[in-house]
Amino acid sequence: MSNRTPLMAGNWKMNLDWKQGLALVEELGDQLKSVDTDRVEVVVLPPFVDIRTVQTVVEADKLPIGYGSQDISAHESGAYTGEVSGAMLKALGATYTTVGHSERRQYHAETEEVTDAKVKASFDAGLTPILCVGEPLEERQAGKHVEYTLAQLEGGIASLSAEQAKQIVIAYEPVWAIGTGEVATPDDAQEVCAAIRDALRALHGDEVADAVRVLYGGSVKSSNVVELMGKEDVDGALIGGASLKAEEFARIAGFQ
Ligand code: PEP
Repeated sequence: MSNRTPLMAGNWKMNLDWKQGLALVEELGDQLKSVDTDRVEVVVLPPFVDIRTVQTVVEADKLPIGYGSQDISAHESGAYTGEVSGAMLKALGATYTTVGHSERRQYHAETEEVTDAKVKASFDAGLTPILCVGEPLEERQAGKHVEYTLAQLEGGIASLSAEQAKQIVIAYEPVWAIGTGEVATPDDAQEVCAAIRDALRALHGDEVADAVRVLYGGSVKSSNVVELMGKEDVDGALIGGASLKAEEFARIAGFQ
């Protein structure tokens, strides 16, 4: 058992308007009363336009819920229409941002060069990036899932110092398991999460490798989280669909 605090992060994707987001966070706050939140970190990742609402509820009710964004601009400020900077997110009290989610890679052509720049922009703004990596089905079927995932990892952390690398969160999300209901087996998740940790060890040494939290993501539910969390190198989960239901998300967070 490691001494890394588990992290359960709920990716709302492009769901919920601000009123629905408000109701969800309030209900999540209620549901988390039965969870030992000193032992697990719970985070929600709403659409940009809902972050201010989440901040208001979390601060007013002193909820044990962190929050962040699903994306971040690689740029600091200026003429980048439609983008949101790390400093803007930080000013809203956000602490995390996902970078390189497979839906960003697929629909917005986020290459490793882009994820590297966004990871760097996150640290520059004082946010913790959750770098998402993971293989499509063809790569898994060809037995190249580890190789593929590690190439994304190495591309995404290329310009980090050891001190920054120690703070990053990595989410292993096989693309074929996201939103499909088809969860990776705990052994499959462990294989790749361990390979990620080994790669971090080779790049930055034991201290970094032992500190970094590696999450699994892809159809996580309360019915499969216990087995996944039983694996040595799985330190939490990135949860999409199931994070939209407060009771279910709190059950996942309370996996102990
Ligand atoms: C995700 O959005 O990162 C995700 C893992 O989604 P789901 O849990 O719905 O598969």
